[in-house]
Amino acid sequence: MKVYLDNNATTRIAPEVLDAMLPFLTERFGNPSSFHSFGSDLKEDIEAARQKVAALLGADAEEIVFTSGGTESDNTAIIGATSINPLKPGFVTSRTEHPAILETAEYIKSRGHPVKITEVNSDGTINMNSLESCVSEQTGLVSIMMANNETGVIVPVAEAARKAHASGALFHTDAVQAVSKIPVDVRSMDIDMLSVSAHKFHGPKGVGALFVRKGIEIPPFMLGGHQEKGMRAGTSNVAGIVGLGVAAELAVKHLLEENGRTGLLLERLEKGILEKCPGAVVAGGDAERLPNTATVLFRGVESEAVMTLLDIKGVCVSSGSACSTGEQTSSYVLSAMGIDDVDANTAIRFSLSRYTIGGEIDYILEVLPPIIEKLRDISPYANR
Ligand code: PLP
Repeated sequence: MKVYLDNNATTRIAPEVLDAMLPFLTERFGNPSSFHSFGSDLKEDIEAARQKVAALLGADAEEIVFTSGGTESDNTAIIGATSINPLKPGFVTSRTEHPAILETAEYIKSRGHPVKITEVNSDGTINMNSLESCVSEQTGLVSIMMANNETGVIVPVAEAARKAHASGALFHTDAVQAVSKIPVDVRSMDIDMLSVSAHKFHGPKGVGALFVRKGIEIPPFMLGGHQEKGMRAGTSNVAGIVGLGVAAELAVKHLLEENGRTGLLLERLEKGILEKCPGAVVAGGDAERLPNTATVLFRGVESEAVMTLLDIKGVCVSSGSACSTGEQTSSYVLSAMGIDDVDANTAIRFSLSRYTIGGEIDYILEVLPPIIEKLRDISPYANR
């Protein structure tokens, strides 16, 4: 049996998405910037996808810029918004953001921008007092993620946006993990910019979007052609954009029913693990979390060993560690929550999707407890 519970890393393409994309990879291969109709007709397909992404976010189509994914959207927002007003070059973000935000923060810092990083609480939520003390008249942009990729902890971004706006700063949120899993509405949440990535919700890899509220003008990040009304140079990824559009449409259609079902499966998984694996703890367990994500600390048992043995049983999960290059380091997200390195190295992240079924949860609950028990017996940290 193959069980894939690493959906926060990436998801399978929905069959409806693949079907919609195929014509654009075969007979409709034109370039939408071409003069002739074989290319320019594709503009209609791109605009239809823009409408669908806008509908998912409660935005207007003209506020959506297609990008190559979450990383580019985050980079564009930060580098753009901190460069529009020389009196407001400052950037504020939090300790538990994705590297697409934190590395970009380091980059603009090295270019002379003041950067402040807010603390998080032990349950992974943003410390609003810390955020308030970081934001000043100098701050041009505050970026706080809507939901964390490792723990699934949800941040009340409307409150963070209010704090940003009180100092005249713009507010961006990396909603890469939140979109399609919880309702997102840029208007009621008072969001100025928001990042989306298709491959996190059953769309293709290498395509995403940045919502930029009407009236905000940021410089493009990619230079060259004048695609996306000059906001993003580069030949449009038509198949990818169409795929993102259909993924967004499916997300709107399934939002409540699908997430209710996923939430119940996650609850069953967590309950089963806590019952069958003594000492296991859910990171951020007391906070509001995405309905598909649980990071569990199997204290005393190293996550790498657990992942390897689960892999042999056909179960794909990830550790809470930053493992973007296959190199294992302690998770800075768990560390920011006050979890020490030894415990952080016992974290396993389970992330479910629309396609997860009850039988897969039952299978994990059958194979996982003996693995934990066996490893705990030989672990030097077993008594922690
Ligand atoms: N932001 C978050 C919270 C993510 O989880 C990810 C991907 O893991 C990204 C940004 C990067 O998105 P992409 O893979 O589309 O560049």
